[in-house]
Amino acid sequence: MSEQSFDYDLFVIGGGSGGVRAARVAAGTYGAKVGLAEQDRYGGTCVIRGCVPKKLMVFASTYRDSFEDARSYGWSVEDGAFDWDNFSGKMNAELDRLEGVYRSLLDGSGVDKFDARATIQDAHTVALSTGETKTAKHILIATGGHPIRLGVENADQGIVSDDIFHLDKLPKSMLIIGGGYIACEFACILHGLGVEVSLYFRGAQILNGFDDEARGLVAEAMRARGIDMHSGANVLEMEKQDAGIWIKSSHGQERTFDQVFFATGRKPNSTDLGLEALGVKLARNGAIEVDEYSQSAVPSIYAIGDVTDRVNLTPVAIREAMAFTKTVFGGEPTPVDHDLIPSAVFTQPEMGTVGMTEEEAAEKGPIEVYCSSFRPMQTAFAGRPDRVMMKLIVCQETRTVLGCHIVAPQAGEMIQMAGIAVKMGATKEQFDATCAVHPTMSEEMVTMAKPVRSA
Ligand code: NDP
Repeated sequence: MSEQSFDYDLFVIGGGSGGVRAARVAAGTYGAKVGLAEQDRYGGTCVIRGCVPKKLMVFASTYRDSFEDARSYGWSVEDGAFDWDNFSGKMNAELDRLEGVYRSLLDGSGVDKFDARATIQDAHTVALSTGETKTAKHILIATGGHPIRLGVENADQGIVSDDIFHLDKLPKSMLIIGGGYIACEFACILHGLGVEVSLYFRGAQILNGFDDEARGLVAEAMRARGIDMHSGANVLEMEKQDAGIWIKSSHGQERTFDQVFFATGRKPNSTDLGLEALGVKLARNGAIEVDEYSQSAVPSIYAIGDVTDRVNLTPVAIREAMAFTKTVFGGEPTPVDHDLIPSAVFTQPEMGTVGMTEEEAAEKGPIEVYCSSFRPMQTAFAGRPDRVMMKLIVCQETRTVLGCHIVAPQAGEMIQMAGIAVKMGATKEQFDATCAVHPTMSEEMVTMAKPVRSA
């Protein structure tokens, strides 16, 4: 097929953060002719059923503490109740607005939108559920992922994160299964909104893969706030009964909850796209295998974002989109940099992290650990026992800060800034050369004089 005979230079499948960014930049910056198909709502997981509504729910849930603390600061505050209907109506209106913004950004860049499901017919042809077919020089798959339930019988009686934003009313009690990002964030959110939350996770501790000391402090705080946490707890049986959903678990409990929420991981949306027949390679979990330029085993087909299961975070999908457009349309082959990505878990307290955990770093060579844990001024004054933690992992030989872990209110905001220094390869001495901002929690980052241990 000659180049001129394609309908598009690029056809994008999936209108989430990654797909929309790639389409907009390919069309707007590089002048490519671009089509994009989305079968659901524009904005994808992040905007419609993930980060954005989740963060609004985080904000809603933290007012409970604020009202209590306000009394300690001299305000007279009357006890009120949270009104889910009122909040969720506003939240959904905000999501509608954002979806509109995404649509108009695509229109403004001259991208042709197709509200349809797309499958791939051959290396250059996309078939739409409308019956149309479109040809393209390059095809970009940005179809994201979806939450998965456990294989236990009647699992469909429980909900997943997609459903949480559409509840008619908040349940009185909820079991959350899992100990990862989504499980821990929603345990805190729902507890803050007044739901009695139990968390069953199969391991010994929540938030696998994060720094042990940091996740230990988050777990301690969650327990202290009243979240009913159970380690080594697998769900063996579940069944809907008159009183709610009955659960039998591996740690010897039989309990009934109003609602059960599976937060047991996500899977790439790569099935029924026609990929295997074309020779696109998939990993065992369905992730599309791509090289450092996001190119699949079929040269005209690329993939970015959660469907590739590299680092499943919105800003990473966006960076993959930018690297893809630069490589394919900008003539500058640009590998995606997945090193030292800062991230935050929006638990209460939040955890912000960048670089290696103490455990990972200690395996690689001699390190020094600088750590400060204390009761911050704002909540200590209000009589709360909450502790925060600032921790730096330093390479003994080069003095480079290999990892930074923060457990504190607003840790997400702090780690974004600390992430710049860590990404630049700053040493402990360069952190120390920075004057403290007083009085703040994060000033500890530049005032920790002595290591608490070496390893
Ligand atoms: P995670 O991988 O973080 O957590 C999955 C949880 O499910 C883990 O606790 C895991 O246990 C447990 N699990 C998996 N399989 C089983 C099983 N068979 N039986 C019992 N438990 C099981 O996934 P999430 O769904 O929470 O989040 C998906 C991704 O989305 C995250 O990895 C992250 O990339 C992204 N995300 C990011 C957020 C942020 O940036 N703030 C917020 C939300 C999501 P175990 O640990 O023992 O394997």
